Amino acid sequence: MKIVSIVGNRPQFVKAAPLSRALRRRVTEVLVHSGQHYDPELADLFFDELGVPQPDHALEVGSGSPVTQLAVMLERLEPLLLAEQPDMVLVYGDTTTTLAGALAAAKLGIPIGHVEAGLRSFDKSMPEEQNRVVTDHLSALLMCPTDTAVANLAREGITAGVHQVGDVMLDASRMFAPAAAARPGPRALGLEPGGYLLVTVHRAAATDTPEALASLAEVLEAIDEPAVFPVHPRTRHRLASAGLWERLEAHPTLRLSPPVGYLDFTALLLGARAVVTDSGGVQKEAYFNGIPCVTLRDTTEWVETVEGGFNTLTGMDAGKVRAALADVSMPAERPHYYGDGRACERIADAVAASLPA
Ligand code: UDP
Repeated sequence: MKIVSIVGNRPQFVKAAPLSRALRRRVTEVLVHSGQHYDPELADLFFDELGVPQPDHALEVGSGSPVTQLAVMLERLEPLLLAEQPDMVLVYGDTTTTLAGALAAAKLGIPIGHVEAGLRSFDKSMPEEQNRVVTDHLSALLMCPTDTAVANLAREGITAGVHQVGDVMLDASRMFAPAAAARPGPRALGLEPGGYLLVTVHRAAATDTPEALASLAEVLEAIDEPAVFPVHPRTRHRLASAGLWERLEAHPTLRLSPPVGYLDFTALLLGARAVVTDSGGVQKEAYFNGIPCVTLRDTTEWVETVEGGFNTLTGMDAGKVRAALADVSMPAERPHYYGDGRACERIADAVAASLPA
């Protein structure tokens, strides 16, 4: 039994860390790295510190528009999949890498397993939503993190091959909690635990137009308390091109830094008063760790966190962000929306059971 797993982005490396381990106890896994994220601080660092197995194949797609990246990945995946002849192709999440893996496998008649299936923001202008919907409709095995995801698939007529397994990011969070707790954390940056915000921004909607960048700068400039912002290379590049980087560097309480590794990021998260983000994964990690979240989007796939009062959607609106930050709190009870931290075992079981003996 052989599977080809395809990863290529920071959150996929985080998810592959616990999942590859679980899969390799059950099946032969060939790991492909698309190269969609290639900056060392978004890629190599994660393989090294999280113990993700070294990729067997590197597509080295590099930078380019999503359409060009998709085309290059498809071209490079075809001979690779024909040579490897896997019983299944496993894809993660909702990126261009996910879509490329799913399309290449579908065209070659190879069954697809989708980790984090069934998530919907119901905003089809989001590249991630397009990638998720297409991938789910091509997949034979759909590993859903939540009941909401299962219900979303049922509404689209997908009920076969659907498994509610819990969230692999919770597995990762639990697996690396001791190592993260041992990192220097906020004090090393001169920040008081409980006395600062942790900020991340990287989505296309926040960074791809001059108007969006101006709104982002307005939100960041409205922050009037200590805050640390490990800046994604794309965001940094776009802010610099728009002439906004120096203005933000001059902000008296905002500390801009390069992106940090998962363990340092988790250590910073654990000490934060609140998180301000447009990330999907970070919304959940805030919830796992009992840190209030303010999400700079109008929609989220992680609706449970909003409905439960753990997460506030503000869009990229400085006034709403300020109001949300003045008001954040954590409800006393945190339901187990995302399972029990054993999603990877269930996925490995489902994959092994679906493959020919
Ligand atoms: N992350 C990290 N360092 C950072 C920012 C984020 O390790 O400087 C981690 C974070 O803990 C989470 C993942 O990257 O596990 C989220 O990735 P991202 O926000 O890029 O993608 P999304 O979840 O929005 O798809």
